[in-house]
Amino acid sequence: MPARTTVPENRRDDAGPAAVLEALREHRHFVMCAHEKPDGDVLGSGFALGLALKAMGKTVHYFLDDEVPRNLRFLPDADKTQRALVGVDKDALYVFMDMSDRARADEALASVPQDRIVNIDHHLGNKRFGRWNYVVEAEAATGILVLNLISGLRQTITKDIATCLLTAVISDTGCFMYSNATPSTLRVAATLMDLGADKDLITEQLYQTRSFSGQKILGRVLDDFVLTDDGICYSAVSQTLLEEFGATHEDLEDVVGALRAVDHCEVAALLKESPDGSYRLSLRSRGRVNVMEAARALGGGGHFRAAGATLPGPFAHALERMLGAVRAEMDAERTRG
Ligand code: 5GP
Ligand code: MN
Repeated sequence: MPARTTVPENRRDDAGPAAVLEALREHRHFVMCAHEKPDGDVLGSGFALGLALKAMGKTVHYFLDDEVPRNLRFLPDADKTQRALVGVDKDALYVFMDMSDRARADEALASVPQDRIVNIDHHLGNKRFGRWNYVVEAEAATGILVLNLISGLRQTITKDIATCLLTAVISDTGCFMYSNATPSTLRVAATLMDLGADKDLITEQLYQTRSFSGQKILGRVLDDFVLTDDGICYSAVSQTLLEEFGATHEDLEDVVGALRAVDHCEVAALLKESPDGSYRLSLRSRGRVNVMEAARALGGGGHFRAAGATLPGPFAHALERMLGAVRAEMDAERTRG
């Protein structure tokens, strides 16, 4: 007997899921596409939809120009990702998940024509770059949209699918701590647990397992951070520091969250140097300042309270641009009152 699901009503959207459901039903071959620096939402969403489509007899490839991060390797199908677009049917649809802009996907996908793209996302300012777009900005995670789709396809939410989707929800709500975790989000999570999602495994992997080097670097970041008079709490991680501990950006997951927790911090910023000398910027807001707008002014994007961008070096220049963009948004917020 198929498992029963209680899925919140789909919210209204420009394309709505009906057209997307039809596209998923009518096509046979799919490629699930993740954004760079994949997280629990994009991977959980991709594996969940992939598992459901495979159960319908369709072929699914998971394309990821990256390794699956260590803390997400427990996800069902995490061992089936591929780093090259080989063996993909020419009629395949490409499902872009959790991306406001197709430029967030790997360059290998740059030549995929718009009429083969399904865009499923919850970021502010999504560019509607697909032929089919299912975008609900108010939703806490792309995984919830995928749950709506799998239910719309009348597919069973298996234990594995439920684990993937709960991972998506837990990742994007900071384990239900952020303001996007609404009563409806918690009801979806409860439903997923009823369907067998392994909540303990997920929270253990996501929040209680940090790499040795990541934890050491967190110590340095907390030692070095600056809190400005206007409430910007920032720190940086250089390539030299990463090399000292044999660490990568993957080891820095949510280090920026520790900066936001500092009393009187309105906006937290972490600048992470990449091997090419540019800086990956992570921004987090306590809730008053819209960091998505600050990130957008720097060529990036994200959500109201969590956003990012890439800045060219050297460090002093990247820092100055970050401070300028954040302060401009703080001023805008003050003007709005
Ligand atoms: P993180 O700080 O964890 O890298 O990113 C926080 C949020 O901002 C995520 O939702 C991510 O999708 C978004 N984000 C991070 N970097 C970029 C970027 O360069 N461009 C866009 N459009 N969004 C980004
Ligand atoms: Mn997301």
